[in-house]
Amino acid sequence: MVEAHLNGVRNARAAGWRVLERGGAALDAVEEAVVIMENDEIFDAGRGSFLNRDGKVQLDAFIMDGATLRGGGVGCVERIANPVRAARKILSDSPHVYFVAEGAERFAAEHGIPLCRNEDLIIPREVERLREFQARIEPSPDLFAPTISHDTVGAVALDRDGNIAAATSTGGTLNKAPGRLGDSSLIGCGCYADNRSAAASTTGWGEPIMKLVLAKWAADHVASGSVPEWVAAEAINYLKDRVNGHGGMILLDAHGQFGLAHNTPRMAWALKTVKQEETGIQR
Ligand code: ASP
Repeated sequence: MVEAHLNGVRNARAAGWRVLERGGAALDAVEEAVVIMENDEIFDAGRGSFLNRDGKVQLDAFIMDGATLRGGGVGCVERIANPVRAARKILSDSPHVYFVAEGAERFAAEHGIPLCRNEDLIIPREVERLREFQARIEPSPDLFAPTISHDTVGAVALDRDGNIAAATSTGGTLNKAPGRLGDSSLIGCGCYADNRSAAASTTGWGEPIMKLVLAKWAADHVASGSVPEWVAAEAINYLKDRVNGHGGMILLDAHGQFGLAHNTPRMAWALKTVKQEETGIQR
């Protein structure tokens, strides 16, 4: 699956770059990048996500604009193929920051986002994965052990106007309880952006990440003068040391300095600047 993940992040990068190249906003770039990954069944976002205990796909997403601090988030949606699009509509068209479950679906539909059936988001690979997981006599002692993959998607971007943005989208964790919300769509946990500090997106074991409000923690450290490269690594060390968490982070400040780190065996990433283009799955 390694090559498929690398292709997926490369395609997402290309979509984001197309927006930035023509002078578009970082906010649009992260939205487009995340849509590509939501549409790619290899990731745990949109169609192809992990199934919850009831065998349903339940999605969370958040997007944030570092220029204005406006954010939009959806949680536990079951009939939206691209939850980041719904999150973006909330950011742009609503005075609120969050909508969840049916209310989020209703908001999306009222704002021109098509609803789908939950079955349209389910693929056989995930039906089989859930079946195998639930058939285990001994439940895994640690559902979030690093050997169980997390495949949340995220993007951070800086545009020509000097604005940064971040977006994160997920199907959450395998066999999660219906209604369980992870870190990904929680502001400051799985996603954050402020031009004065940094844009961050995280993946991994959601409960520990949210306990540390990790994306905001990292942004604050950048605001205090530390470089994103170090802060990303420190954030992941803090996650492990403080709450025994596993995960990864991408981090970018408004000067274009970036960091990425993970303590899971792998995390696919792709980055592009005017001078540099790199893709990887280990760092
Ligand atoms: N952070 C996500 C969650 O806990 C899972 C992931 O990153 O794959 O919902």
